[in-house]
Amino acid sequence: MRFELTDEQRMIKSAAAELAQGFEEEYWIEKSRGNEYPREFYDELVKNGWIGIAIPEEYGGGGMGMLEMVLGMVEFGNQGADVGLMFVLTPVFGGLSVLKHGSEQQKEELLPKIANGDMRFCFGITEPDAGSNALKTTTTAGKRGDNYVINGKKTLISGIDLAQKMLVVTRTMPYDPKHKVAGITLFLVDVDSPGIDTSELDVGLSLLEKQYEVFFDDVEVPAENMLGEEHRGLIPLFDTLNPERMTGASNGVGFANFAINKAVEYAKMRQVFDVPIGSHQGIQFPLADSRAKIDAVELLLYKAAYLYDKGMPCGREANTAKYLASEFGFEAVDRAVQTMGGYGLTEEAGLMRVWKNIRLIKTAPVTNQLVLAYIGQHVLGMPKSY
Ligand SMILES: Cc1cc2nc3c(=O)[nH]c(=O)nc-3n(C[C@H](O)[C@H](O)[C@H](O)COP(=O)(O)OP(=O)(O)OC[C@H]3O[C@@H](n4cnc5c(N)ncnc54)[C@H](O)[C@@H]3O)c2cc1C
Repeated sequence: MRFELTDEQRMIKSAAAELAQGFEEEYWIEKSRGNEYPREFYDELVKNGWIGIAIPEEYGGGGMGMLEMVLGMVEFGNQGADVGLMFVLTPVFGGLSVLKHGSEQQKEELLPKIANGDMRFCFGITEPDAGSNALKTTTTAGKRGDNYVINGKKTLISGIDLAQKMLVVTRTMPYDPKHKVAGITLFLVDVDSPGIDTSELDVGLSLLEKQYEVFFDDVEVPAENMLGEEHRGLIPLFDTLNPERMTGASNGVGFANFAINKAVEYAKMRQVFDVPIGSHQGIQFPLADSRAKIDAVELLLYKAAYLYDKGMPCGREANTAKYLASEFGFEAVDRAVQTMGGYGLTEEAGLMRVWKNIRLIKTAPVTNQLVLAYIGQHVLGMPKSY
């Protein structure tokens, strides 16, 4: 594969860097300290077309693709902006899901609102007893007249307080071990529907989006709010997983670049035994090792996005990029903290929020064990491990 960015893609990268540079690092430190949502930054994302970047122009979007989205995300992360959940929730679970699997009516109604910032999404798959194994979903949707009625509970749901719609994974048929994949159905649910209740969870990260338990008690949803076909919701769900993994990988690569750059600057300047600490191999080589690893992951990420945009299989690249971005990214940020000695552990140094948040990518949106299970089975052709 020949990989070269077009002039337009280069301009997109520069535009993202410029937008992010308009927000000083102190802005992100303050927001994460107060667990406050960066509304000003998000508004700029909307105003500059980033949220609708992969939505076709006929629906009010930018008419570009996943490659442009991840190029931007990496640039935002390079500047220390925490954009992972911002992009996965609305542009991916809202925008791409509806674009690829919505009815024409859903596209016409929802996509322009997503692109212009009037509609934001959250995503509800995880339940107390159904995380990695989504087939064990117990939230049900039963038919009542022209509506479906949803009952059940979701957990660890990010950003429902900021959203108008939730993409909800339900069961419309009981779990049958003989036909495991049948019976899952997706719905686009208004989060202010009667019967939805939420309770905030205390997650020990520095995330800007809050997490919630969400309870569904006889929540009525019109049948036309189904996404895809009844009982066959795994198709749109699985289809969205590759872009989801790419947004996770972008966040990891961006954060790693941010941390490596910060550590290198510090290592060139800080003198302990009369020479800059960066002249010691014990400081320099771990950072060089991380630089090499993250450069490789970044290229793989762009390949994954390029293949996705061409409609080609990209599961191997998307999963591997998310796996390595989280493992090598976490390692890079940890090394950057170590480079800065005790100062690295202060909030002022600006790495602790990144250190905590990049840890999330090993676990969500999918755990790294499950990614390895995918690679073992689908890339290596080994027996299913679970
Ligand atoms: C901050 C945060 C935000 C989140 N936001 C959302 C959100 O917006 N929406 C949403 O729906 N969910 C969200 N999640 C949930 C997240 O997607 C799940 O936590 C994740 O998919 C793992 O599921 P689980 O927690 O149920 O772990 P489990 O499925 O209980 O797994 C526990 C451990 O066992 C391992 N394991 C399980 N099966 C196997 C196997 N076969 N082989 C090897 N290892 C295995 C897992 O990898 C994991 O390490 C969020 C989570 C966090 C922490």
